Amino acid sequence: MCDAITQAVRHGVPRRTLLKAALGGAGAVAAGPALAGCAPDVTPAAASGAPPPADGARTQLVLLGTAGGPPAWPGSDRAGIASAVVMGDRYYVVDGGAGVLHQVRKARLGNWQSDTEGPLDALRAIFLTHLHSDHVVDVNNIMTAGLYNGLHRVDRKVQIWGPGNRGALPPLFGAPPAPEPVVPENPTPGTREMVDLLVRAFATDFNDRAFDNRKPVPAQLFEGLDVPLPAQVLADPNGTPHPRMSPIPFYEDDRVRVSVTLVQHAPVFPALAFRFDTDDGSIVFSGDTGPSENLIELAQGTDVLVHEVIAREWVESLLPQPRNDAQEGLFQHLINAHTVIEDVGPIAERAQAKTLVLSHLVPGNWPEEKWQAAQNGFSGTLVVGRDLDRIGVGSE
Ligand SMILES: [Zn+2]
Repeated sequence: MCDAITQAVRHGVPRRTLLKAALGGAGAVAAGPALAGCAPDVTPAAASGAPPPADGARTQLVLLGTAGGPPAWPGSDRAGIASAVVMGDRYYVVDGGAGVLHQVRKARLGNWQSDTEGPLDALRAIFLTHLHSDHVVDVNNIMTAGLYNGLHRVDRKVQIWGPGNRGALPPLFGAPPAPEPVVPENPTPGTREMVDLLVRAFATDFNDRAFDNRKPVPAQLFEGLDVPLPAQVLADPNGTPHPRMSPIPFYEDDRVRVSVTLVQHAPVFPALAFRFDTDDGSIVFSGDTGPSENLIELAQGTDVLVHEVIAREWVESLLPQPRNDAQEGLFQHLINAHTVIEDVGPIAERAQAKTLVLSHLVPGNWPEEKWQAAQNGFSGTLVVGRDLDRIGVGSE
């Protein structure tokens, strides 16, 4: 049995699916293209034991970073949460966690071999699921260092989409006193404002590059945009529980159509999930969320569901009883605003997803085999995500 099968089994791809694919049968979305010939594996992802490469597929999911949460996890080299949807010679980034710019180059996207003309030359847009720092911290690297990594070669402005300003602080968990709010005059800026504020913070750099190196200015390169949502679902700025809604398409170009729904990540609100549809199929990103009916509706019948996951066992060991207010607040957030391993499989099953990809792993340094428990309750293909994994969607 060739290496590709060994690697796929390590990632939880059911053997029945692999054997079917190896024999030329249908039904192996992740394993199909490479298994057809058991082709030699030359991508960095495959060399590290990832699922078989998706060579030839026009639409691909690329996991750029798979670690969840702000910790720089000891003993793990997973980059911060970020993914790419590749469609032909163009790609779209979902979330911009720590290391995203380096990961885009390692993933060989765009003109990745050029020192300065890529890999951002093929980037079309960025979609942020929510504004927790672990999802956005290196968007700034794309905006600033992007000037020397191909951003100036993009044929139109890169759009940076994400949630808008919720307009209110989250409720205080536990007994007063409340802390002093940070920037009380505007404590919860949304995506459009965040991009503008980052430009202001780095004005010295942008001006030096523009005046000394004659580089383009930010207004020529990118723009921040708030994902439009109906007023009625935003009426409660804390969105607890998150309002039920059906998916809304909000972005379309000649390659992809992107739809959005609200998910459960209280007290963060709005927190978004995205679905990308192309002529080849679909990829859904859960963002950070507890179990969400909105997400299950968004993901109905999808080819690939990229879902976050947290280990309850780890949370309980981190915050054992008895817990003070601060510890209880964090415990409740971790358990209710994320999805524990036991729930992920049944969610993917209800969504009738063909392939479930675990990403945003919390903790980011857990033994890989422990995540395999997510197969319980799910009859499709499970992939425990690794950085730089690629999964093809649709036929070649
Ligand atoms: Zn989050």
